[in-house]
Amino acid sequence: MPKQLLMLDVQKVSFQYNETPVLKNISFTLEKGEHLSIIGESGSGKSTLLKVIYGLYHIEKGKIFWDEKQLLGPNYNIVPGEAFMKYVAQDYDLMPYITVEENIGKFLSNFYPRKKKKRIAELLDVVGMTNYAKVKPTALSGGQQQRVALAKAVAKAPELLLLDEPFSNVDNFKKNKLRRNIFAYLKEQNIACITATHDNADSLSFADSTMVLRHGKMVDKNTPLDLYRQPKNKYVASLFGEVNELPLSLFYDDIKASKKSLLYPHQLKIVQQSPLKLTVKNSYFQGTHYLIKGKLGRRTVYVNHSAYIPAEKEVYITAIEE
Ligand code: ADP
Repeated sequence: MPKQLLMLDVQKVSFQYNETPVLKNISFTLEKGEHLSIIGESGSGKSTLLKVIYGLYHIEKGKIFWDEKQLLGPNYNIVPGEAFMKYVAQDYDLMPYITVEENIGKFLSNFYPRKKKKRIAELLDVVGMTNYAKVKPTALSGGQQQRVALAKAVAKAPELLLLDEPFSNVDNFKKNKLRRNIFAYLKEQNIACITATHDNADSLSFADSTMVLRHGKMVDKNTPLDLYRQPKNKYVASLFGEVNELPLSLFYDDIKASKKSLLYPHQLKIVQQSPLKLTVKNSYFQGTHYLIKGKLGRRTVYVNHSAYIPAEKEVYITAIEE
């Protein structure tokens, strides 16, 4: 990696609010324009990590650098956040008595009114809020306010954007388009971004790399594809949906029972006959297929199938050869 591309360098950062450590020895780097997503169960430290980077909390252990400059945190900077970064928190921090377009343009210079107008229009379009330009935030839904907050954060083209659950209040109809628009816009503008999310679609489809946190520790960091294909453990795999942890000896005679394998439901299939008999308990409609939940002895197993299967029916499963 050429050194000049490196922007954020987080070195062995630990943090605690009180006695319990919340972030433990976190190290990673981020390049210019890179999109990193942070995933992990609720309470794993995702929000705290963003806040620490933004400079809301003082860290006793570890260092954070931006280019070559150390970020010193709230003990040194009274106002959190450096000029080059923006942080969009779960509360949207919009001014209630000015319009959506005034909110978005709040930090833009009035010196070039035509340029400012054009930029606001462009951003309204990116977040799908053009029709609400003249409306005040108090008249908007939570999801609409969230979209305005995103537009406001990117208005001045920061070099780094920190997003905490950025689409949590946006309804599913709008979410996909918004996600595509905003992340394409960030790439186009070469704005680096760290997204804390519990939504695996944010992570799998849009991030360049994904970090997995558990109890404040980084358990894995990889490209979304490798993280998904070669999860380090069941915790990592289960962030992408249901997963089966099964002894390999179920499928191969010559393997010791202690060896286990993580198999996603699409890596198993229902067949006419096999040594593995599954008693179906539930069939969940997933749009393109059904997720079948069943019992294999005492184990619960998930397998994808094209059709609904009634409860208590016995079927046979096998692993798909890849
Ligand atoms: P996540 O974003 O992954 O859900 P958080 O960073 O919000 O996780 O929280 C990590 C841990 O820190 C949790 O145990 C949470 O209860 C605790 N925590 C978060 N904010 C505070 C706070 N302001 N004071 C004390 N503990 C906090």
